[in-house]
Amino acid sequence: MRARAALLQLYRLGVLLAVAWLIRAHHLRLRVEGDRPVRVEEVAGWFTNAAGLQLDLTARGGFHVLDKAGAELGYLIRTLPHADRTIGYCGITDTLVALDLNGRVLGFKIRHSEDTKTHVGDVMADRHFRKTFNQMTWDQVAGMDLKQAGVEGVSGATMTSLAVAEGIVHRFRVAQGELRPQPVRWGTRDIGLAAVLAFALWLSFAKAEGRERWRRWFQWLVIGYVGFLNGDLLAQSLFAGWAKSGIAWRMAPGLVLFAAAAVLVPWATRRPLYCQQLCPHGALQEVVTRFAPGRWRWTVPASLDRALRWLPGALLFGVLFVVMLPLDFDLASLEPFDAYVIRSAGVATILVAVVGLGAAMFVPKAYCKYGCPTGALLEFVRARGVEDKFGRRDWVAGLLLLAGLAMHWQHAAFFQLIFGTAV
Ligand code: SF4
Repeated sequence: MRARAALLQLYRLGVLLAVAWLIRAHHLRLRVEGDRPVRVEEVAGWFTNAAGLQLDLTARGGFHVLDKAGAELGYLIRTLPHADRTIGYCGITDTLVALDLNGRVLGFKIRHSEDTKTHVGDVMADRHFRKTFNQMTWDQVAGMDLKQAGVEGVSGATMTSLAVAEGIVHRFRVAQGELRPQPVRWGTRDIGLAAVLAFALWLSFAKAEGRERWRRWFQWLVIGYVGFLNGDLLAQSLFAGWAKSGIAWRMAPGLVLFAAAAVLVPWATRRPLYCQQLCPHGALQEVVTRFAPGRWRWTVPASLDRALRWLPGALLFGVLFVVMLPLDFDLASLEPFDAYVIRSAGVATILVAVVGLGAAMFVPKAYCKYGCPTGALLEFVRARGVEDKFGRRDWVAGLLLLAGLAMHWQHAAFFQLIFGTAV
C-alpha cells in the first residue's frame, strides 16, 4: 500500500515536471528556429561535410553542426529573434554565425533581411567587414565595444552593416549573460514572503488548539500583504512564464520559495498549504462566506457539482494549448489573481475575481471548487495517504502530458489545423 502511494506520488511529480520540461523545450525551439528554420545547406560554406543540425537546449540556444556519422563539426548561432530590436536602415536582419570546435568564429552571413536589398548586398560583398569577428571567442565577441574596436561599417550601407555587427554582439551577450552566474537578490519583499510562509507552515502543522483564531488574523495578513501589497499570487500565467523562460529564482527568490512550498508540501505531507493558508483569493472567499447571511447558503445539486468539477481541469488543457501553440492570449485574464494588482489589472481578471467572490456568498469557496486551474494543479500533486489509488485526476494528467507531447512533435500540423496556415 505504502509503495503504491509512493509510486503514485512519483508519477504525479513526474507528470508535472515533464509538462514543464516540454513547455521549456518547445519554447526554446520556437525561439531558436523562429519563423525561418535554419537548414543544413546554409552552413555548407563553412562545414562541407555537414549533414545535420542539432538544437542546443542550453542557454547558448544555437545548433551543433554534425556530419553523417553524428560527429560534431562546429557550432552555429542565429541572431534572430534575440536581436529583433536591432534595426538597420529600415528593417531587422537575421544573421548566422559559425564557430569552429575550439569555439572561435569562422565567419557570419546574412540569411534574411528586411533592410534595403542593395545595402544588404553591399554588406555581404565587403570581405573586410565579413571578417570582423573571425577567430574571436564567445567571450571576446560578447565583450566587444564596436566603436572602440574601430568597426565603422560598410561605406554606403553604414547603418545596415553596423546593425548586423550590433546584432551579433547582442546575440552573444544575451547567451553569455544567461550563462554567467548572477547573484540572488533577497529583498525585503522576499524576506516578508519567507516569514509569511514560515507562519503558514506553523499553522498547518501546529496542534489544533487556538490555531483557528490565529488563522483568521493571518488571513487578513495574507489578503493585505501577499495579495494587495505584493501581488504575489501563484497563477497559471506565472507557472507558464517560468516554464517557458526559466524560474526567476535570482530576481524573486521569495516567490520561488513560496511556489516550491505550495507544490512540495502537499505532495509530501497531504496538507494543502497554499490553498488552505497562503492564497489571498482563497482567504477572501472565506471572509466573504463568513460575512454573508447563512440563509443565502445554497447546496449545489450533485449532478451540477459533478459537471462543474471538470471545469478547472478543462482550463488546464486550455492553458496548455495557449502555451504550446502559442496563442496570443493573456493567461492572467483566465484567473482572478491579477485583480489584486489593482493598478494594472485587466477587465477580465477583475470580472473573474468579482464573480468568484460573489459566488462565495452562496457556495463556500465556489471558485476554488469549480473554476481554479491553479488550485486543480496543486490538488493534483497532493498526497492522499496509503489508501490512495490511480484515479480520474491521474488519467487526465496523463492525457495532458500526451497532448503536450503531440503538440511539441507535431507542432506544424497542429498549427496548420487550427490556423489554416503553415507555421
Ligand atoms: S483553489 Fe485557487 S483560488 Fe482557491 S485557494 Fe487554491 S489557488 Fe486560491
